[in-house]
Amino acid sequence: MDISVVIPLYNEEESLRELHDWIQRVMTEHNFTYEIIFVNDGSTDGSWNVIEELSKKNPCVKGIKFRRNYGKSPALYCGFKAAQGNVVITMDADLQDSPDEIPELYRMITEEGYDLVSGWKKKRYDPLSKTIPTKLFNATARKISGVHNLHDFNCGLKAYRSEVVKNIEVYGEMHRYIPYLAKNAGFDKIGEKVVHHQARKYGHSKFGINRFFNGYLDLLTLWFLSHYGKKPMHVFGFLGSIMFFISFLALLIMGIEKVVDLSNGVYGPLADSAWFFIFLTGMLMGLQLFLAGFLGDLISRTSPQRNDYQIEKLLRIEK
Ligand code: UDP
Ligand code: MG
Repeated sequence: MDISVVIPLYNEEESLRELHDWIQRVMTEHNFTYEIIFVNDGSTDGSWNVIEELSKKNPCVKGIKFRRNYGKSPALYCGFKAAQGNVVITMDADLQDSPDEIPELYRMITEEGYDLVSGWKKKRYDPLSKTIPTKLFNATARKISGVHNLHDFNCGLKAYRSEVVKNIEVYGEMHRYIPYLAKNAGFDKIGEKVVHHQARKYGHSKFGINRFFNGYLDLLTLWFLSHYGKKPMHVFGFLGSIMFFISFLALLIMGIEKVVDLSNGVYGPLADSAWFFIFLTGMLMGLQLFLAGFLGDLISRTSPQRNDYQIEKLLRIEK
């Protein structure tokens, strides 16, 4: 199969038919073999009914229905696991991304050898309250991730070589950083294509202003993970041990000084009770930090998979 189109959606019933027809038209015009995987992220409107209706008309339509709303990243993750195409294309369901971009994205992956091509909404049709913070956010993400050539990390329209989506774990709110995740997994041929962007036709955006706050926190986590491997708690364990040993050493010197002082009646600079308490506290804090790090490691090694979602129904998708 040439292409899997993965579409995460939350309450988008008005746009699904139009989106489906448009994708179908592009695929038939270019003779692509394809599937459309709609991932219904706990919609409370009639989205799932529309997906079932579309699947009756078109055997290429598949569906995953979550039992509740988990978020865009889990929806993408499950779509990725189910995708069978050589190239996987993600797209928002709200008709802001244009299916007409699919053939060129496909060509860039298969002929130019990109692992990932990200859309760039150079001319955006979103309110200023969203575009200005987004610019700032993208600048930070570029700097921290080291993926310097991307202008628009969060664009919903992206294309991937299938190995990429099979080898990355998109969890939490990490859909904003898939290029960073891909780079960390060793897929570093990352390109960009300017894409058309339309204003939302129906409904409203599903992300509020806290998207930026969450976005920055996730960026920090990813930076940490990419620098300190899968066990970030090692760092705290390490800091804790250093603190512990410095304090321990200081207390030891103080103890020796005390003994020497007692024998000749002179006081050294460290043999002062304030310093004694400072180093005692330091030693205990170091011990605590070390234990926190150790517990963190234990938990991260023994906890079950993070991506464990309740799926209510599957449409033409094998488990
Ligand atoms: N979405 C989702 N789960 C959510 C929130 C959003 O699957 O919890 C989908 C949404 O239906 C759309 C895409 O993610 O297909 C992008 O969302 P939206 O258009 O609200 O984001 P924006 O364009 O404002 O960045
Ligand atoms: Mg949108």
